[in-house]
Amino acid sequence: MPKIRNLNIATKLSVWACTLIVIFFATTAYLFQQVRQDAEVSSRIVSVNHDLDSAIQRMLERLYSVQDNIRRYKLIGGDEAVGYIVEDLTRFGEILNKTLEKHPEYADEWQSLSLEYEITLDPSETPGDSLTPDETVREWSDILEQSLLDNVADMEMSLTKLHEAGRHAADIGLYGLILCLVLGVGGSLVLAYFLKRSLTEVYRGIRELGTGASPRDVRVLSGDELGELALAFNAMAARLRREEKMRSDFIAMLSHEIRTPLTSVREAVDLVGSGTFGEINEKQKRFLSIAEKESIRLSELLARLLTVSRMESGELDLKYQETDGTKLVQSSLERLGPAAQAKKIELESKITDSSLPLRADPGHVQQVLMNLIGNAIKFSPEGGTVSVKANSADGKVVFCIRDTGPGIPQNEHERIFHKYYREPHVRESVDGAGLGLAISKRIVDAHGGRIWLDSETGRGSIFCFSLPIKKDNR
Ligand code: ADP
Repeated sequence: MPKIRNLNIATKLSVWACTLIVIFFATTAYLFQQVRQDAEVSSRIVSVNHDLDSAIQRMLERLYSVQDNIRRYKLIGGDEAVGYIVEDLTRFGEILNKTLEKHPEYADEWQSLSLEYEITLDPSETPGDSLTPDETVREWSDILEQSLLDNVADMEMSLTKLHEAGRHAADIGLYGLILCLVLGVGGSLVLAYFLKRSLTEVYRGIRELGTGASPRDVRVLSGDELGELALAFNAMAARLRREEKMRSDFIAMLSHEIRTPLTSVREAVDLVGSGTFGEINEKQKRFLSIAEKESIRLSELLARLLTVSRMESGELDLKYQETDGTKLVQSSLERLGPAAQAKKIELESKITDSSLPLRADPGHVQQVLMNLIGNAIKFSPEGGTVSVKANSADGKVVFCIRDTGPGIPQNEHERIFHKYYREPHVRESVDGAGLGLAISKRIVDAHGGRIWLDSETGRGSIFCFSLPIKKDNR
């Protein structure tokens, strides 16, 4: 038999609905059956017991009247009393016969009574002579009274049974209703919980994929359509991982291969520029300086590509030590000073704390600062201002870099931290590979910090990141 978790959603819903229907109909059928039985019992009480009761009562009335008239006859004699006795006995006989027709089960019990009555009223004899003796009538009354009592007892028993059956039916109805309710509400909650669990898992995977993180497998929690969806997602994630690995391996290989000849080119340009192989004129100097700048740019690009490919293979090795945030900002500003000067951009440090101690990898944190300040300079127009703020609060040091550049539209805020992503309107006009922010985010995340952006088109940008002051167990 297949396990419930392996059934598809439609089958699970059908099993659940069928169970509910079966319980509901079983309860209703039982109640219906019980009502029919109760109706039969009550109709028996009415048609048998009640009918018998009234017939016996009427017969007894006649017999009591016979007894009275016998007593009267014995005291004062006379035909009138005999006439009453005969009439009563005749009526008694009629009722007796009718009752026996309807209730033949009393034939045995009332056998003596009917035989004696027939003998007593032999039409060939004179009524006065054959009048039934008083004791006989009393015996008849006793038999009938006993039958009356039996009938009442039988009626009471039927009524008790009816009452018990009614109570039992009410209990069964209530239990059935409660079971339906529990299964209905409980079943739908359980089904909703399991469906939601599987959906949440796939949703988490898709969301993670959307943030640009490396695709991770999701848990396969059921064998239904959602389980198949999770399996399909995992197959897709595995393919994406393979492709990403191939791409980063290829980039790493290419970067290594280009690095060596590039170093030779830089050294050659340096040697020629320094005049080792003879005097060079101003024009040659200018071209050599362009070649040097371009080869430096290429080296930096290769370094970034290598960093990204190392990060992807999980090789971000952080060397934690006591670090001073203020010093890191100052040194970054100093190193980027020439680039800012070249664009006549003012660099401001708005740090009031003389030192901002934290436990972090200084090399990597400096790389984040250089990326963010470098971008701020790169994207600000000539004559703009770039200011850096840092302060410590709530166990964190927060760094913020503000520029007077074009700003970034709200809908791009998440994407700009993805690898190789560059805003469409800067692609043509500004150099870059779309790696700086991805690398920065990876470094900040690895420190247990957070990086974010506050910017809108035309208002400049403020890039901030926070790092915990203390990093446990490092
Ligand atoms: P790169 O600068 O090499 O293109 P980044 O990862 O550093 O790569 O930046 C990604 C994109 O984010 C940039 O191409 C640019 O569109 C946008 N961006 C980053 N910093 C700024 C900034 N200070 N002002 C405006 N846009 C920015």
